[in-house]
Amino acid sequence: MSTLATVPTHVNVAADWRAALRNAFKVPSELLDFLELNAEHRAALGPCENAFAQLVPRGFAGRMRKGDPGDPLLRQVLPLAREKETVPGFSADPLAEIEVSHQGIVRKYAGRALVITTAACPVHCRYCFRRHFPYADQTAVRYEWRDTVASLAEDSRIAEVILSGGDPLTLSNRRLSLLIDQLDRIEHLDTLRIHTRFPVVLPERVDAGLLELLAATRLKTVLVMHCNHAQEIDESVDGAIAKLRRVGMTVLNQSVLLGGVNDDADTLVALSRRLFAAGALPYYLHELDRVAGAAHFEVETSRALELIDSIRNQLPGYLVPRLVRETPGTLSKTVLG
Ligand SMILES: *Cc1c(COP(=O)(O)O)cnc(C)c1O
Ligand code: SF4
Repeated sequence: MSTLATVPTHVNVAADWRAALRNAFKVPSELLDFLELNAEHRAALGPCENAFAQLVPRGFAGRMRKGDPGDPLLRQVLPLAREKETVPGFSADPLAEIEVSHQGIVRKYAGRALVITTAACPVHCRYCFRRHFPYADQTAVRYEWRDTVASLAEDSRIAEVILSGGDPLTLSNRRLSLLIDQLDRIEHLDTLRIHTRFPVVLPERVDAGLLELLAATRLKTVLVMHCNHAQEIDESVDGAIAKLRRVGMTVLNQSVLLGGVNDDADTLVALSRRLFAAGALPYYLHELDRVAGAAHFEVETSRALELIDSIRNQLPGYLVPRLVRETPGTLSKTVLG
């Protein structure tokens, strides 16, 4: 916690989440030391430096079980040597998003436009389908929003803007309000959606400044968080979600079905129940996008269908996420089962 301790007292609260992010585990061996994993565990795991570097906030690491190399949170974030294996069918841009994106806007689905606001994330998920995305050419941030906003204003078919990335909440509140103020003035927009993993991996991000700007917009606001396992949610996450709901946000969750993390019915049932207890509804359960480096997370579609059937039999309908697959060239996500 040394970085946190050195933040001067005159720095405002908004700096805290940045300090926490700077202080995240960036080296596999340090994370493994923190988790008290011995040489035998390490040999079994095969941790490895990677161009898509490790990034794990300490608070998130604090929810992992010490001494357990199979911990479902650890598995999501620890870079492994096997990510470098080439597996047929797994490519750098499985969704062909690079083709449909222009100046940081991905316009694939009717009525909604997804804005790639930034490349940065508060955590590096090893299964991320954007791990090879050429952000330098594609993020809206380079354009200071002007071209992005102009382009959204021109297309009256767009009712909902989705801020994505990377993670849009890595932007400062000032930068976000600059964008949201401009979106507010586009008459054909009615909804602002934010796709973010912050409430789960760095709940400190849900600070007073952010809540203020979310409360101020005339747009309906939806936050889609990203959590794959009930163990990711603790009291700090409960607190962040409660604050978001208090400013009128609808809070939903998307998960990715991941081998060795959440590919059994009990785990998925527990996740849905824990989300509901925290104030978030399960929205999507994504099949893994076949991105190079993530093949070891794949779950067979037949198994995915079995799982969704099984949880449907155990949960009320509103706690059953839609199992979806993203197929390049289709007008929506494909719902399975
Ligand atoms: C998922 C996604 C959306 C949003 O789709 P919903 O079904 O409304 O959640 C929009 N644009 C892109 C490019 C997406 O991948
Ligand atoms: S937070 Fe989202 S965009 Fe960022 S690495 Fe994880 S899955 Fe990818």
